Amino acid sequence: MTDREVKAAEGPLLESKLREERRFEPPADFRERAWVKDRTPWEEAERDFEGFWAKHAEAEVHWFKTWDRVLEWNPPWAKWFVGGETNASYNCVDRHALGSRRTKTAILWEGEPGDRRALTYEDLHREVQKFANVLKGLGVRKGDRVAIYMGMVPELVIAMLAAARIGATHTVVFGGFSSQALRDRIQDAQAKVLITQDGAWRRGQVVPLKQWADEALAEAPSVEKVVVLRRVGDAAGAAMVPGRDVWWHEAMAGAAADCPAEPLDSEHPLFILYTSGTTGKPKGVLHTTGGYLVGTTLTAKWVFDLKDDDVYFCAADIGWITGHSYIVYGPLSNGATVVIYEGAPDWPDKDRIWAIVEKYRATIFYTSPTFLRTAMRWGPEYPKRHDLSSLRLLGTVGEPINPEAWMWYHEHIGGGRCPIVDTWWQTETGMILIAPLPGVQTTKPGSATVPLPGIKADVVDEAGNPVPPNVGGYLVIERPWPAMFRTLWGDPDRYVKAYWSQYPGRYLTGDGARKDEDGYFWITGRVDDVVNVAGHRLSNIELESTLVAHPAVAEAAVIGRSDPIKGQALSAFVVLRAGVEPSDALKEELRQWVGEKIGPIAKPSDVFFAADLPKTRSAKIMRRLLRDIAEGRALGDTTTLTDPAVVEELRQRYIAEG
Ligand code: ATP
Ligand code: MG
Repeated sequence: MTDREVKAAEGPLLESKLREERRFEPPADFRERAWVKDRTPWEEAERDFEGFWAKHAEAEVHWFKTWDRVLEWNPPWAKWFVGGETNASYNCVDRHALGSRRTKTAILWEGEPGDRRALTYEDLHREVQKFANVLKGLGVRKGDRVAIYMGMVPELVIAMLAAARIGATHTVVFGGFSSQALRDRIQDAQAKVLITQDGAWRRGQVVPLKQWADEALAEAPSVEKVVVLRRVGDAAGAAMVPGRDVWWHEAMAGAAADCPAEPLDSEHPLFILYTSGTTGKPKGVLHTTGGYLVGTTLTAKWVFDLKDDDVYFCAADIGWITGHSYIVYGPLSNGATVVIYEGAPDWPDKDRIWAIVEKYRATIFYTSPTFLRTAMRWGPEYPKRHDLSSLRLLGTVGEPINPEAWMWYHEHIGGGRCPIVDTWWQTETGMILIAPLPGVQTTKPGSATVPLPGIKADVVDEAGNPVPPNVGGYLVIERPWPAMFRTLWGDPDRYVKAYWSQYPGRYLTGDGARKDEDGYFWITGRVDDVVNVAGHRLSNIELESTLVAHPAVAEAAVIGRSDPIKGQALSAFVVLRAGVEPSDALKEELRQWVGEKIGPIAKPSDVFFAADLPKTRSAKIMRRLLRDIAEGRALGDTTTLTDPAVVEELRQRYIAEG
């Protein structure tokens, strides 16, 4: 969703031309062992929605004080487990460290230079308590905001859990975002303390986090103290500011070992996280404690079928919501063993991820379609180098997965035996809302399948009426859910306007979708990305999936640019698979291919071969920047891009090729 209100669409509803016929049943032995084997939880939730959530809140989360009411819903303002008291840090650490998982490994960490660490729940308990005391010593009090700007190191998790322990609200900013992006977020959140590191390793280079932090802090006066982890040493060139900066290890050396977790109100703010900024300026999404914990704990357990002997590996960065909910809070609350790696998936070689799966015998792997398409482009020889037989379940998140990428994942990573969970959710939703439960649901490549138990979603037209099967419309969520965001930080009006005004009482996701005749949801992309060619509204995702299904193509982005005759003309930006030569003949072949598969109207007016596409750090294609390029406009907000050079180079070449 952008600030632009979702406009009443012109012309007919979204037309969908693609049908996927492939079906995959849960393997019998998987189903037998799974937490959820049948549809009972859906039935329970339908019979008694609040009772369903109360039952699982009780079973999955430790409460210092039980709630008085499950839900208080004054649309669009929600309170969950009202009057209850709990603590996220206690749930993720203490209850395991003090119980049967004391010596169980919580975190398996691999640094880019090859260093390794394993932290047990007992270790985590000790470190988190000490760092919580460090924060207290720096003047952090309940309700204060703490900004965290780090790479993927165990201390990032320790810092988050330490803040949560004392009731400070954390805001994690991707390590690798520019100083400007960091400054904006610190200013918006008015953070009092910043936790960072001298530098981070990425592709053999040092990312100078401390230097960038210093630049940001020059214009972010709310920050009084800075804690700096020494990760790379002198190569980072970090300078300490006397009186303001302290080294992590020095502060920890003097910290007391004991810091009990503070019982916090269920609605106490746990964290602020800024969205990916795929469609515009990032929004400060606020999550609170009790409901978030219930939602992420239960969905981590059910969707990933988490068991005590699993080794869970999510390759996302903790700086976006997937890392918050499904590296840190959800899995640790379940007492899982979590693999975390520092660096990049193609360093020292393009098999890094698969090497990690093999080395740690990961059983569950969760990544993005963007990474999978990139891996397809590199070719199957990289996963083939490794023994991936430990894997039993695969997941994706972040964008619609093209059916061909799903099949590639199934075959080359899952060895044909692992169920795939395509999980639809957002920073705002906090937890997965639409996804298969892997022991129950038949999957169809490209569909996130059906809403989870307790969740009610629908696809509606402009007036809010459900659309017939296979007609596209707006994806809405019909009732509140525990991990829902409570507001946009500092901007409650925008919370109301952007998400709850179009259809009062229903949550507007900003995504388009269609439901098929079996009730399966197919996300058709962002409402803003729908293209309108000569009165036909087409889903960019379907166009892109069609291109990706061509053997020469690894990745594609299709956008509509204004055209005096057609209204919009389609431009396709295509990344070819390794070894394929670009040519004019291939361009024409791709245009014909789309024309045949979808219809003549869908033939792109132009096909442009790109070396790479502009992507956010959370692995999403930024189509709005491609539109800016195609229409010759100045580029919009680029602060959340992985690599701003990609878009600049693309623009130069686009102009040069006319
Ligand atoms: P912004 O809101 O600032 O533009 P963003 O929407 O990219 O950023 P996130 O909250 O990280 O920020 O991403 C959520 C979006 O990702 C969803 O709205 C949807 O468009 C997309 N998405 C996530 N998972 C899936 C999925 N499994 N299938 C299809 N789309 C998905
Ligand atoms: Mg969004």
